[in-house]
Parts: sequence; C-alpha cells; structure tokens
Amino acid sequence: MNTTPSAVIDRHRRRLGDRLVILAHHYQHDDIVRHADHVGDSLELARKIADLSAEYIVFCGVFFMAETAAILAAPGQKVLIPDASAACVMSDMAPSWLVEAVAGRLHAMGRMATPLTYVNSSARVKAACGRLGGSVCTSANAEVMLSWALGQGHGALFLPDRMLGANTCDRLGIPPEKRHILDIRRHGALIDPKAVLAAEVLLWPGRCVIHDKFTPDRIHAVRQAHPGALVAVHPECPPATVAAADAAGSTSFLIRFVEEAPQGATIFIGTEENLVVRLARRYAGEKTVRPLLSSRCSNMAKITEEKLAAQLADIASQPPVTVPHDVREPARAAVTRMLEVCAKRMDP
Ligand code: SF4
Repeated sequence: MNTTPSAVIDRHRRRLGDRLVILAHHYQHDDIVRHADHVGDSLELARKIADLSAEYIVFCGVFFMAETAAILAAPGQKVLIPDASAACVMSDMAPSWLVEAVAGRLHAMGRMATPLTYVNSSARVKAACGRLGGSVCTSANAEVMLSWALGQGHGALFLPDRMLGANTCDRLGIPPEKRHILDIRRHGALIDPKAVLAAEVLLWPGRCVIHDKFTPDRIHAVRQAHPGALVAVHPECPPATVAAADAAGSTSFLIRFVEEAPQGATIFIGTEENLVVRLARRYAGEKTVRPLLSSRCSNMAKITEEKLAAQLADIASQPPVTVPHDVREPARAAVTRMLEVCAKRMDP
C-alpha cells in the first residue's frame, strides 16, 4: 500500500466522500492546493461556507480563517485546521483586550467611530466589532466596506492593518489629514484626543511583515532591469509601494491581472510567493510571471501534506476549531453584515 502523505490523503478523501470538504487559501503550497475542493481568497472562502453541507470542513490556511469558517458553519459541522498554531502575525497585533481598551478610550473621548476589522483578526475582535455595530472586510471588498462604515455617520476605526486601511482611504479619496494612526501604547493612554476627534478614519497600527518587504525601490529596480514589465501588488503593501505599482488588489484580483495581461508580458507580483509560483507555472510559455521579491509566510507554510494526512486519518477524534457562543453570535453578526453589504454592492 502506498503510504506517502498524498496517497493517504486521497484514500481518506475517498473514504469520507461528501462528508469532507477541504478549503485552501491561495497562499498555500501546491502540495496542499492540489487536494483542495475549493481554493480562494478570504472573501471567496467565507462566501463558500454557507453552501457547504459536509460534516467536516478542513481549512488549510491560518487560524483566523478557520475561526471565520467556524463562525459561519452550520450546527453540527466541524471545522478543523491541520495545525492550529498557524497564526497570522498581523492578526496578533490586535489582541481583543487591547482593541476593547482602545475602543473604550475612544468612547470616553466622545469618538463613536464604526469599527471595521480586516478579516485577518481573531473571532473576539470580530465580535467586538459586531457588538459596536461594525463589520468585517477583506482585501477584495475593503472599499465597499469602508464606504459602508463611513456611511453610518460617525467615521470609522479600521483595524488591524494600517496599510490596507491607508490604501483604501487613497482609493476612496480620503486625504491623509483626515486619517489618524492610533497610538496604542499603554492601553491607548497616549491617544491624542484632538487628532482622534478631527480624523474621519482611525487606523490601527498593524501590518503584515510579509507584504512590508515590498518597497518602491524594489519596483524601480525591477522596472530598470525589465523595461515594459508590469507590476501588481497586494494592498497589504505600504501605500508608497502601491503607488509605484501598475495595479493593486486582492489575491483574486492579482490572478485576474495575470490572466488578462497580454501574451508575452512580463509581470512581477508582490504577494506571498506560493501564489506567484503557481501563476508562473500556469502561464509558462505564454507570459513570464515572477515574484517582486521572495517573501513567504512561515505560518501558511505550517500546513503540510503530512499534517493534513494525519488529521484526515483520525478526523473523528480531532478537536474542532470552536468559538464560544457569546463570541460567535456577535462575530457572526459582523461577518454576516459584510456578506449582506457585499451582496448588494458588489458583482458576484
Ligand atoms: S501573509 Fe501576512 S497577513 Fe497573510 S497570514 Fe501571513 S502574516 Fe498574516
């Protein structure tokens, strides 16, 4: 009997049949993606959950993604992740206790900003947003959702990614003097009330260490070495990098950008390298696709074929990802609000 992890996964997929669905984020390695029933960005995968009737949903990504799936899953469905220690560094920059402390300070200052959390955040942070009438966004719908939050009439608190927040403000034409990056040191004791009251959008100072590495200098160097090359980056990159690129957008946008680029084009992509390598292989011989810089997410890489195989082999006794009821309900309200707003304002 073939005992390679890949063969073991195939065997258990056959054994479990419709009872199992495997979801994978675009940043997963090909070794994982090839076993997935659905591959997508955070928005696509969140939308998919409602359509799934499988007993087991195995999420190959980082923990907040599996938690989001657990928030949206139907009663009786079990969400699992092959390695629960696959954290997101950006998400960890906004622990719920600190978000609640800062929100309390803003409230005490008379600032009633509608909270909008990037999906890269814990269930507890999503729940805090839900309780305060806020919502969630992904990189694919950040403009729509920030417009929605501002439409509530109190300004917005965008967290945890200051880069996505600033890039979205740029797209919506909200000038830098109408934004303020919060000082969250000492539980928010250093927050400047005057600046907070004057700003339209308050930005939490989180960021992605993977996308931070893509600099405007790197884009200039690439353009010099490859005249005519196209450059597209993810909006978790710093605003100066986004400004220097030809285009910026979510992982699904980057996939479309490559697909729609002319035959023979050379395209540099600034995002997690697994996706770029996959695109390079898919378009080999037609277009040249290269990473703007080698940048891999070590947490995404924690999901391996070996761990997936081990989880499937023993799936009935594996601990599912759970979200306590008092967290799940407000977090679900925040995520559902996003899905409803997007259903009305975005193309499917
Ligand atoms: S690439 Fe960045 S934002 Fe995405 S999971 Fe890794 S650390 Fe988090």
